[in-house]
Amino acid sequence: MSIFINKNVCNGCGKLKETLCERICPGDLLFRNAAHKAEIRSQADCWTCGACVKACPVQAIDLKLPSQILKSNVSLRAQCKKQHTVWEIRNGNGIKEEFVIPATTGNEAK
Ligand code: SF4
Ligand code: SF4
Repeated sequence: MSIFINKNVCNGCGKLKETLCERICPGDLLFRNAAHKAEIRSQADCWTCGACVKACPVQAIDLKLPSQILKSNVSLRAQCKKQHTVWEIRNGNGIKEEFVIPATTGNEAK
């Protein structure tokens, strides 16, 4: 499992001192390279938490799902809104499906 960073879409988070994906990665795996694009230090160390996928404001990061879970070439992309997150799943044939997950605070059932 790993992530894929689309360098054509990544804008390096403009003038932010620390990029949003870099800031959120719990493994400190992401950094902005000399070309002002996000890069991962080690795919092997990524545990596919998806935090960077959700944090990227321009949807430049895809989560690659393993073939053991789904068919090959399946990826997930997220678009975070205030009230919900739109997850887009794409398979190798280019077919897309969207799932809308409401944002929660974790306190709703209390
Ligand atoms: S998926 Fe999680 S662990 Fe992997 S690079 Fe993104 S934030 Fe870091
Ligand atoms: S958050 Fe998105 S746009 Fe910003 S550096 Fe990371 S991949 Fe690029």
